[in-house]
Amino acid sequence: MHMVLESGGAGFIASVSGSRVTRRRAGMMCSPDEHEMERVDCLLCPGSTGVTLYSGLRDAYGGSGPGYFSLKRCEQCDLIWLSPRPNRETVGKYYGSRYIPYQDQTHRPEGARALMRRWLSLPYRIRYGPLHQILPPPHRGAKVLDIGCSSGRLLEAMRQVGWDVWGIEMDPAAARRAAARAGGEDRVFVGTVADAVFPECNFDLVTASHVLEHVHDPIATLERIHRWLCVGGQLQVSLPNIASLESRIFGRHWSGLDSPRHMYHFSPATLSRLLALTNFEVSARRPQFQGSSFGGSVKQTLASLVRRAYATPTTGLIYKAAVPLGWMTCALGDSASFEVLASALEIPSGVAQ
Ligand SMILES: [Zn+2]
Repeated sequence: MHMVLESGGAGFIASVSGSRVTRRRAGMMCSPDEHEMERVDCLLCPGSTGVTLYSGLRDAYGGSGPGYFSLKRCEQCDLIWLSPRPNRETVGKYYGSRYIPYQDQTHRPEGARALMRRWLSLPYRIRYGPLHQILPPPHRGAKVLDIGCSSGRLLEAMRQVGWDVWGIEMDPAAARRAAARAGGEDRVFVGTVADAVFPECNFDLVTASHVLEHVHDPIATLERIHRWLCVGGQLQVSLPNIASLESRIFGRHWSGLDSPRHMYHFSPATLSRLLALTNFEVSARRPQFQGSSFGGSVKQTLASLVRRAYATPTTGLIYKAAVPLGWMTCALGDSASFEVLASALEIPSGVAQ
């Protein structure tokens, strides 16, 4: 899972004041200061404050960051979002060197587990093709930008099939590793989408794997990406699927919630609406084959039931045992995340972006 944060103008923040998150159990954890939190309305339906879906959510990594958070659901469009949430200045404290995407690990199964994954993924591969979709470059010298490129494994794979590769990554250590894989220090911008500067119509493809759910303003992020793509250019995004069976089974313990790092929770329907709003047209959609979300959800549920720390040797073993169950649910047709390919449309005349 990769991540990148954006900053910059968001017109949809309803109120920053009065958003103090109260302490649920005395002595357990300090609440963040009032000025560190913000409340927001629905991204797609201005003025819709939503109804509370879950409240009292803690940092999903065993409460390592301060505060309690709530999820809201819009009654008009079904979008789900975090509110109150950390603001742009303070959200960084919920990402540390222990944040898994910043670690240069592949998590590839080996031995019998690899064999099990191979067999369980067979129905998926027959229906959808390779587990990891690497698009071929449309022409010689075609340019791809990977947003939230982490340590650059995708950039390396895309470079090997002929893409001219570029990246954006917030974490300086991960960005250094990515730049080495991309073929040059200047190929990975260290910072946010809002701060990165690229010419208009510069890329043939933009990839953003598990990124959009992390940003404070997905509309501003997509508008920026649209400017960097030529008309007809492709956007490939993947996200957790809040409409999945796995999400409904695990509820507030579903690992895809990952509060407070995940600001928005999309379904295929709400993502399509967001993409249409920002002048993209969905051309393909497929579930992602993975078991880590299921493993994380089982781990989180059990850790909560027995009130134990999230990361212990025991919960680690539980996670490892549960991952193949996630592969099985994918084989049966449910997946906790999905991938969408969309084309950049021409912006209708008279519409400013
Ligand atoms: Zn809405």
